[in-house]
Amino acid sequence: MRFSTTIQILLLAYIVAAYVFWGFSLQKQSVQISEQELITLHSQVDSNAQPLMFASRLHEIEDKKNRRTKQYIGEGSTFLIVIFIGAAVVYSSFRRSIRLSRQQNNFMLSVTHELKSPIAAMKLNLQTLERHQLDLDKRNMLIDRCVKEANRLNDLCNNMLLASQIEGKQYVPAKEALNLAEIVEESIHEYEGRYPNRFEIEEMVDTEIVGDKLLLQMALSNLVENALKYTPATKPVRISVKKKNNCAILQVADEGEGIPDGEKSKIFNKFYRIGNEETRKTKGTGLGLYLTSKIARQHKGKITVKDNDPVGSLFEITIPIAKG
Ligand code: ADP
Repeated sequence: MRFSTTIQILLLAYIVAAYVFWGFSLQKQSVQISEQELITLHSQVDSNAQPLMFASRLHEIEDKKNRRTKQYIGEGSTFLIVIFIGAAVVYSSFRRSIRLSRQQNNFMLSVTHELKSPIAAMKLNLQTLERHQLDLDKRNMLIDRCVKEANRLNDLCNNMLLASQIEGKQYVPAKEALNLAEIVEESIHEYEGRYPNRFEIEEMVDTEIVGDKLLLQMALSNLVENALKYTPATKPVRISVKKKNNCAILQVADEGEGIPDGEKSKIFNKFYRIGNEETRKTKGTGLGLYLTSKIARQHKGKITVKDNDPVGSLFEITIPIAKG
């Protein structure tokens, strides 16, 4: 990357230098033209015999020279500005494509890991079930683990599929009348079975919105999965659905590590994950929040994140209430 940046800078410097050189050559030429015109004037008009005519022609020559200089400076600086704007646009799109390809690379690394690890865990659990005569409790525990891993795989595949469908505009979201509180309660009820005593429902106000149930469930699931993933297992996840200014507000708050201010806007970018893929301990693809923000926008709403009080993060999805 450094090599191509150097080439770009050298090219730009060459173009600018060539341009400045042309400018000076033109100006030199203009001076020569004026000198030639002056010689011609001296040969045609006697300054002593016809001083007025001489002065007026001289003024004309000077005037033409000044106009040429102004033209060179004006056109030259316009072209230079255009060149600099063009270079800045090319450079920023080049940087963007490098960043995207690095993120895609990270994505491939984490997806491979994400796909392999539940498969390996399921295989191990199933092999244990197959080879050993275990008592009922242990069998149930292993089966439960397999189901959890299968659910994780399922969520990952759904996210990836939906991401590509939304991207390719193949997914047409439903527009049904929904009660956001009902959807949230339903999903949390299911989560409570998998993660007992982790959830605290703060407020659940009935809110009528228009949207796609599957997408909203997915948005909630992404927020809840993150809250569980980035928070110690002893800390609660607080959920609420409120009504404010003609909007339904879904809040998911955790008491985890929190998100630094500089990262808050970036985490909604595709494939973005905080930190370095090689040293990261948590699993993920960087697709969850990207999709969640797309889903919020598809419902004419938005998603925001702020610091939770006293620690952790608070994600908030705001969706307009359906007009009666
Ligand atoms: P991932 O699959 O990595 O979880 P997401 O798009 O869901 O992808 O999240 C992007 C990044 O935002 C995560 O990698 C993580 O660094 C950060 N993040 C998301 N939710 C939380 C949270 N509740 N607490 C702390 N960090 C979070």
